[in-house]
Amino acid sequence: MVLGLDIGGTHMRLVLADRRGKLHHRHKGRTGSREGVDRTVQRLVAMCRRGVAAAAAEGSRVVAVGAGVAGKIDRRRGEVLFSPNLPEMNGYPLGAELERQLGLAVFLENDANAFGLGEHWQGSARGIANWVGITLGTGVGGCLMLNHDLWRGDDLGFAGEVGHMIIDPAGPVCACGAHGCLEAHASGSALLQGVERAVASGRLTSGPLWDLRQRGALTPRSVHACALGGNALARELFERMGWALGLALANLFSILGIRHGLLGGGVSGAWDLFIAPLMASLVIRCRMLPAGDASIRRSALGDDAALLGSARLAWQGHDARRGHEGERVSRLWPPWAG
Ligand SMILES: [Zn+2]
Repeated sequence: MVLGLDIGGTHMRLVLADRRGKLHHRHKGRTGSREGVDRTVQRLVAMCRRGVAAAAAEGSRVVAVGAGVAGKIDRRRGEVLFSPNLPEMNGYPLGAELERQLGLAVFLENDANAFGLGEHWQGSARGIANWVGITLGTGVGGCLMLNHDLWRGDDLGFAGEVGHMIIDPAGPVCACGAHGCLEAHASGSALLQGVERAVASGRLTSGPLWDLRQRGALTPRSVHACALGGNALARELFERMGWALGLALANLFSILGIRHGLLGGGVSGAWDLFIAPLMASLVIRCRMLPAGDASIRRSALGDDAALLGSARLAWQGHDARRGHEGERVSRLWPPWAG
């Protein structure tokens, strides 16, 4: 079996999965990242040991660990280059440290890429060769699956970062520092910033969004509830989200010559509020694709997508290493083969 980890800013989760993706054990704990990186790694190791024990209890053994982490990841060195949610991990050799403490092969990947691997293995994208995945959460993550494989570009630590595609150069500032990224229009943070801008411009002076903000209870979820209740500003923010997503997908579909998109992450729960403007914006702008040929799906796995993807990553890494060893042995043996 393998362990799949999803390491976020506040929580970290683990699954024990077999070759077919069946889950045999799961565990969730606090990341506690403010207590320092050593403490976080201690917690991770303890959680992995629980998984190893759960496998042993079934008469099985863990062969590898896969982990999804938000941010820029150096896969080859097993290093977290930059993580906005786990800043104390910046430059930290997480993979190597876990390998050393656990005595198991550990493979790291960006969390949105892990989402892609999970959905392709067990979710809504099973059997689809080419597609773009977008995760809508506090930020916007993305992945490109091309020819049934994750696109990793030049292995620079990032690829498929759809969230930082510029939608409107004159648009709101993004967490990355640029203006008008998709993330600045279509994330949980963008919803909250949209409310703040309405306050700053004097448009929002009363009503449910105003009350929530005054109580310090404004969250993407509460903006969603206000939109469902018919609040005009909240509805506009989700329409803007759909408009921006449709524009990003139209650009990607035209460039890549593909027609499938898959949306996941917590904010994708507001699907009914943004899917119509998304499709309208996509169909108008993607002139290459006949209207009706674009296919936008919803994640089938929810919170489990990145976990299952990490398990898939562990299997892929394990098989590749074993393949390499097999290759080396076959090159050396038989010795008379030259
Ligand atoms: Zn950005």
